[in-house]
Amino acid sequence: MSQRMQGQPMIVMSEDSQRVKDKDAQEHNITAARAVADAVRSTLGPKGMDKMLVDSMGDVTITNDGVTILKEMDIDNPTAEMIIEVAETQEDEAGDGTTTAVAVTGELLKSAEDLLEQDIHPTAVIKGFHLASEKAREEIDDIAEDIDTDDEDLLRKVAETSMTGKGAELNKERLSEIIVDAVQQVTVEDTVDMEFINIETQTGHSAGESELLEGAIVDKDPVHDNMPKSVEDANVLLLNEAIEVEETDVDTEISINDPDQLQNFLDQEEKQLKEKVEQIKETGADVVFCQKGIDDMAQHYLAKEDILAVRRVKKSDVQFLREVLDTDIVSDLDSATEDHVATGNVTRDEDDEMFYVEGEDSHGVTLLLRGSTDHVVDELERGVTDALDVVAQTVSDGRVVAGGGAIEVELASRLRDYADGVEGREQLAVEAFADSLELVPRVLAENAGLDSIDTLVDLRAAHEGGDVRAGLNVFSTEVEDTFDAGVVEPAHAKEQAVSSATEAANLVLKIDDIISAGELSTDKGDDEAGGAGGMGGMGGMGGMGGAM
Ligand code: ADP
Ligand code: MG
Repeated sequence: MSQRMQGQPMIVMSEDSQRVKDKDAQEHNITAARAVADAVRSTLGPKGMDKMLVDSMGDVTITNDGVTILKEMDIDNPTAEMIIEVAETQEDEAGDGTTTAVAVTGELLKSAEDLLEQDIHPTAVIKGFHLASEKAREEIDDIAEDIDTDDEDLLRKVAETSMTGKGAELNKERLSEIIVDAVQQVTVEDTVDMEFINIETQTGHSAGESELLEGAIVDKDPVHDNMPKSVEDANVLLLNEAIEVEETDVDTEISINDPDQLQNFLDQEEKQLKEKVEQIKETGADVVFCQKGIDDMAQHYLAKEDILAVRRVKKSDVQFLREVLDTDIVSDLDSATEDHVATGNVTRDEDDEMFYVEGEDSHGVTLLLRGSTDHVVDELERGVTDALDVVAQTVSDGRVVAGGGAIEVELASRLRDYADGVEGREQLAVEAFADSLELVPRVLAENAGLDSIDTLVDLRAAHEGGDVRAGLNVFSTEVEDTFDAGVVEPAHAKEQAVSSATEAANLVLKIDDIISAGELSTDKGDDEAGGAGGMGGMGGMGGMGGAM
């Protein structure tokens, strides 16, 4: 062994593997992360554009939703994946604000890159970002306004703000009304139980015909023509077992040698099915929603007993029916009793070919979203889901802030003041953090075709003058009190966006060594196109290009 090896751990790497260290490692990761952030930036805000995503099967998604874009992009770059996790955390914790969280992460990393170039150690940057993030959260709470959670007008504004720029926007008045209604119906003393809200979609109508219905919808037909279509005061059984002949053993072959034997066999089957129907009847049920199949013969027997039966009901529908009817799902008919049957009304809508199911005194509601085509309905559903979460959060948290960049500019200004008292290099990082938050109004302006620098100058001046709610209203294109203009967002989503963006940026900055078993693309040849150089593995984007 040569002397040089002593005390130095030896790393044996395969020929294909690559290693990038220190500054190069950070640069590599920052480039990859920024490429992801840049990919969603243009969708931010009401005037943001949509993306068309084409997966490897050729399926098309048209969306403006940050987390959807990132998930569908099918990126296999590890750093980029970390950024996607930011969006997912934001989605889980806040239901909205994913584009903001990811765009701010990208901007934090861009500022960090400048600081690293000035030979500021990553540790100082990380510490400064952390301090700034903690302070920003404190200030959000200070800036946030407490609201009356019964204030329907305000809640609708919150819903509309979340929907603007999405497919849901065209019908935002109608949709925000039913979204707020839905949340209020499942709220007991500021506790929102989202389990009791279900979303169903239907194509062929316009989005303005969307409605809020009491109870559940089952978009299915009765299994037999001779069954009742509607049952008032129904006794409903939810079943997760097939009403079919049980197959004794997977591999048993039954050899039948003479006609008698065949008859015998068929009789056996018939008897089994009859028995099952008998078991259902004994529970007192006159309506059965079955998650599995129902044999033809059993359908016939059920119809004879005047029992309405529906088969292959979606699992999620059966689960929602359980909430609405406040009952259990039976998965073994042998153990079913009267106790498993719940009372409710089952009404057939012949035009829409579906059932409305209402529980006796339950409080489940269904948002029936309508749209002309699948793509329209899908994007509508994404927008409405976000808005639902946002309204629910506003009701349970009770704090809101003015949007359109108002909160970000106010935070930036307060963070700059705070930076003055921060010692050492960290001060520069806190200032950089403040600048990064202002990305939000800059991009909102940019996407609305306005001059982002002019806008920012106006905004800063307004905030210096004490207008905490001064933001950019992209519809009037004015800097104004966005709260009064109806651009209102939940405070919690902003707090979450700040923490997840900071955590993600710091995670990327902490890495000083990349050891890869495969090839690492550090090629920065086409850096101008938004730093796509590090994105060697962006499989889905290839498909995207092909579609346009
Ligand atoms: P995200 O995924 O982050 O929610 P969006 O595309 O939904 O991204 O955009 C949200 C941003 O748009 C928020 O900063 C919000 O304040 C802003 N916004 C919403 N309505 C308006 C408006 N009328 N004028 C300016 N900004 C608006
Ligand atoms: Mg949004």
